[in-house]
Amino acid sequence: MLSRDDGYVAARRRLVQRLLESGVRDPRVLAAFGEVPRHLMVPEALRTESYKQAALPIGDGQTISAPAVVAAMTEALELQGTERVLEVGTGSGYQAAVLSRLAASVVSIERVGRLAARARSALDALGVSNVVVYLGDGTLGRAASAPYDAIVVTAGGPTIPQPLLDQLAPGGRLVGPFGTREEQALVRVRRTAGGALERETLGRCRFVDLIGAHGWAA
Ligand code: SAM
Repeated sequence: MLSRDDGYVAARRRLVQRLLESGVRDPRVLAAFGEVPRHLMVPEALRTESYKQAALPIGDGQTISAPAVVAAMTEALELQGTERVLEVGTGSGYQAAVLSRLAASVVSIERVGRLAARARSALDALGVSNVVVYLGDGTLGRAASAPYDAIVVTAGGPTIPQPLLDQLAPGGRLVGPFGTREEQALVRVRRTAGGALERETLGRCRFVDLIGAHGWAA
């Protein structure tokens, strides 16, 4: 995936150091951030900004989340490498590329056609072969490839979409931001082996809107 002399090796190394300082501990997550070329997932004019600790615009009113946010959500999924993952909100495709390094396969759904197409070609250009991007309403999940061992929702919704809970495997984890349009709690839900759901709040955050049948109205 990574060309060692792409001009951003030092920037990625600094990014990993900052993630470590911000409390990210999973060595596989840190390694993935050291490998995925974030500058290739943002609009060309923003490449030099791409390793900074900030969300950046990717067009159509959407953003690529700040690296620390992507890292915290990814770490919270507790991936071991064998999982089938569902991502709701492909956006730039960056988090999907990170997840591709940490799980067996990734299904990613994006509701904006132009973003889905751009993310697909960026992932293809990186040679990522275990991510499939679908255009659609991710609040419905994708029953055809369920159940998922991990689900990450990368846009903020009013409540956790029921179809996503229904598609979460026993032992599975769902991580996402839920609350008002102005502020959300970053929530992790774990489905126990017995089928019960355990919910915990990991922090406060503000994401772009999750729009769909089980999200906000467009
Ligand atoms: N994970 C992305 C990345 O790495 O660039 C960042 C995602 S951005 C913060 C949130 C994305 O969710 C936007 O691209 C938005 O269009 C998308 N989105 C919002 N509601 C959605 C829905 N119901 N289904 C799929 N995508 C949705």
